[in-house]
Amino acid sequence: MVHSGRHFLQIPGPTNVPERVLRAMSRPVIDHRGPEFAQLTTEILRALGPIFQTTGPVVVFPSSGTGGCEAALVNTLSPGDRLLVMETGWFSHIAWRHVAERLSLSVDYLAGSWRRGASASALEARLDADREHALKAVVVVHNETSTGATSRIASLRRVMNELRHPALLIVDTVSSLASIDYRHDEWEVDVTVTGSQKGLMLPPGLSLHAVSAKALAASKSSKFPKSYWDWQAMQKSNQSGFFPYTPATNLLYGLREAIDMLNEEGLANVFRRHARHAAATRAACRAWGLEVLCEEPEEHSNTLTAVVMPDGHSADRFRAVVLEQLDMSLGTGLGKLADQVFRIGHLGSFNDLMLAGTLSGVEMGLRMAGVPHRSGGVTAALEILAKGRSGGDA
Ligand code: PLP
Repeated sequence: MVHSGRHFLQIPGPTNVPERVLRAMSRPVIDHRGPEFAQLTTEILRALGPIFQTTGPVVVFPSSGTGGCEAALVNTLSPGDRLLVMETGWFSHIAWRHVAERLSLSVDYLAGSWRRGASASALEARLDADREHALKAVVVVHNETSTGATSRIASLRRVMNELRHPALLIVDTVSSLASIDYRHDEWEVDVTVTGSQKGLMLPPGLSLHAVSAKALAASKSSKFPKSYWDWQAMQKSNQSGFFPYTPATNLLYGLREAIDMLNEEGLANVFRRHARHAAATRAACRAWGLEVLCEEPEEHSNTLTAVVMPDGHSADRFRAVVLEQLDMSLGTGLGKLADQVFRIGHLGSFNDLMLAGTLSGVEMGLRMAGVPHRSGGVTAALEILAKGRSGGDA
C-alpha cells in the first residue's frame, strides 16, 4: 500500500530525527585532522557533561550501543573477572550477560522480574553474601527498553555504599539518557553507557560513556586486550580535539545540534515532557482496558510503554495491521515477550500532537485488527495533554 504524508516511527528508538539535526548533518564532511574538527570535538565533549550530569570525562565511539556495552567491560575489567548483571529484560540479557560471557567474564545473572526494575533488596542479599568482594562490577539497565520498567539507580547505589562493596557500578542508559532524569555523579555511577539513537535524537551510530575517576583508575589495571575501544588512546587524542581513528564526522555535527536543542528546551523540561507523554499513554491504555506490562507505578518508564495483548491475540499481527494500514511502526515484543506485547515509543523529538496521532493510530489499529478493547483511550490521553505543560488549563 502506498502511503502519503510522513511515516510514524513510534518504536522506542531509533527515534524521529528532528529537521534541525538532519540539516546539521547534511553539511560537507570536513578534515577530521584539521582545526575546525578539533573545535567541534572539544565543544561536544564539554557540552555532553551536563547531559550525563557529570563533571568527569565523556567518551564517544563510532558504534552502536552494544559496542558501548562491550567497551565499558573491556576497559574496566580483566578476563575471568566476576560481575553481577541484574536481570530486567531482554537488554540485560543480550547487551550485557551475552556480551560479558562472550568476553569470557564470569557472569552472575541475578534473577529479576520482566515487569519491574532491578530490585534493591535482591542486590543487597547478593552483595552481602559476597564477603570476599569477588564481584568486580554490578551492571544495571536504567530503563529496560524491552519492558518499559525503569530501575531506581540511587537506591541500588545506596545498597552498595551501605555494604561498602567496592564493585564498579555500570549503568546502561541507552533508552533513558536525555529523556529521563539521570545523574551520573550524584548516583556515583562508574560507567554510564548510552547510544545516539534515542533521547539524543540522532540516527544510530554513536555510543557514549561517562566515566568516573574510579573507573579510569580501574582501566589502568584492566588486562583485557583492546585497541579500538581503549579509553587511554581515545582520551589522549581527544585532548587535542581528535580521535585515534576516523570519527563519524556528520553524526558529530548532528550531536552538537541535538545538544543545543536539549539545552534550549532545558533538560528539566525535557524530562517533564517525557513524563507527561508517558502518563497520557498509560491513561489511554487504562481506558482501552489493556494492561501495561510494568506493574510498579514508581518504575513506569517515561520513554516507552509496553502493552500486554489480550489472551489469544497476536501483538505482531496487530503491529502488522498498524504498519500496513496506518504507516506506523510500533515496537515488537523481545525475547520471551515476543508476540505478547507491543511497545509504544514516546521519546526523543516528540510533542503532544505526535502523541495524539500515535495513540489514535493504536486505537484505530485495535479496531482494525479486531483486538478486544474499550473505546476512549485517545480521549483519556487528550484530557491529560489538554491540561497543558504546566498541568493546569491554559
Ligand atoms: N541497551 C538497551 C537498554 C537498549 O535499548 C539497546 C538497544 O535498543 C541496547 C542496549 C543495544 O544498543 P544497539 O542496538 O544500539 O547496539
